[in-house]
Amino acid sequence: MIAEIITIGDELLIGQTVDTNSAYIASALSSIGVIIHQITSVSDDSTHICKALDNARMDADIIVLTGGLGPTRDDLTKKTLASYFHCDLILNDKVLSHVKSLLASRGVEMNDLNHNQALIPSCATVLNNKVGTAAGMLFKNNGKFIFSLPGVPLEMEYLVSNEVLPIVKQLFADVDIVHQTVMTFGLPESMLAKKILAWEDSLPAHIKLAYLPSPGAIKLRLSAHGHNRLQLQQEIEKHIAGLKLIIPDNIFAIGDQSLEMVVGNLLKDNNMSVSVAESCTGGNIAHLITLIPGSSAYFIGSMVAYSNHIKTKLLGVKLETLDAFGAVSEQVVRQMADGCRAVFNTTYAIATSGIAGPSGGSDDKPVGTTWVAISGPQGTKSARFTFGNSREQNILRASAIAINLLREEILRNVSK
Ligand code: ATP
Ligand code: MG
Repeated sequence: MIAEIITIGDELLIGQTVDTNSAYIASALSSIGVIIHQITSVSDDSTHICKALDNARMDADIIVLTGGLGPTRDDLTKKTLASYFHCDLILNDKVLSHVKSLLASRGVEMNDLNHNQALIPSCATVLNNKVGTAAGMLFKNNGKFIFSLPGVPLEMEYLVSNEVLPIVKQLFADVDIVHQTVMTFGLPESMLAKKILAWEDSLPAHIKLAYLPSPGAIKLRLSAHGHNRLQLQQEIEKHIAGLKLIIPDNIFAIGDQSLEMVVGNLLKDNNMSVSVAESCTGGNIAHLITLIPGSSAYFIGSMVAYSNHIKTKLLGVKLETLDAFGAVSEQVVRQMADGCRAVFNTTYAIATSGIAGPSGGSDDKPVGTTWVAISGPQGTKSARFTFGNSREQNILRASAIAINLLREEILRNVSK
């Protein structure tokens, strides 16, 4: 079953309002197996709304529109739909009494604009909007289902959950969809895609693969459509087992988990602790680690050791080392990690030192040069990375790489 979403409103097209309605509806519909083919945003203009509808009706079985159902003059959707489906607007008594009682409960006097909200196209079925005055509507036309919902996110969400989903579910009670996410790290998207090309080609037509990259991970989402949920789950598991054989070191979790969550669980399960000494990442690693609820069980503390003075005074980095190699060097980052581990008395310590940019680079240490070290029971490991010129991206990438290095160190440690 194929759906299209059309969001209506001038505010969407000038960037004043971000179209969160589409994301909500797409997620709700796809969770029950509907395939979203297209999302379109159009202005509060009858011609544009009709054009978008004409277009959507060519492919989609279900069309969901939001916006433009309010009482003001700029809200044109209802009038437009009535004329599009060749029917009149007539007063709906049930809607009228709902609008009256809702306004009364809010202490607002009813005026003729509110009265107009009870005018409903005669060819539409009313979808009761308990949380607002604009009724939702369903038009059935040539086997297609066209839902029109208010633009206010709260009201739209109420109607999707309580009216749209139950109706759509009935349309195809026996079709199911199963999603599973594979979290990968360490391979850029293009390399990952090349490595798993043959595996991807071997997926059957009813299992789709999506790449969702971010600085912290590349998610691979498998979505299987079919009639038997258990069978779909088993099929997905089988394909993921195949994937694990191809990129065993790059998969850090099955299911939607971040690196910080996985590392947190590893530390907790093994009664281990961590501290952080950050230079170029400026506290971001500590921030990521502490975003995880329950991180106090393993996160002891951190230090943003930005200046050389603090690196020497609080972390015990040697002045001679700083003079000889500079702050962005393997020697310094290792001393930072070892010093941090000693100061905080933790199983592991992470340290970072780099040139986040956009300026401050040199020939042998260009912008983006970053050293990361992990100090732990099995010694100190360090690695150099060269990122790009974007300060924010460099911080995000360095943080993710450092947390992943810690993950690898813990795994090396616990597997012994
Ligand atoms: P109202 O009764 O408020 O006029 P309406 O159905 O006419 O409802 P709109 O006027 O289009 O809806 O929008 C009402 C509010 O909802 C506005 O604040 C708008 O920014 C927000 N909104 C509309 N469409 C979207 C959307 N696609 N995503 C997120 N917010 C939206
Ligand atoms: Mg409005």
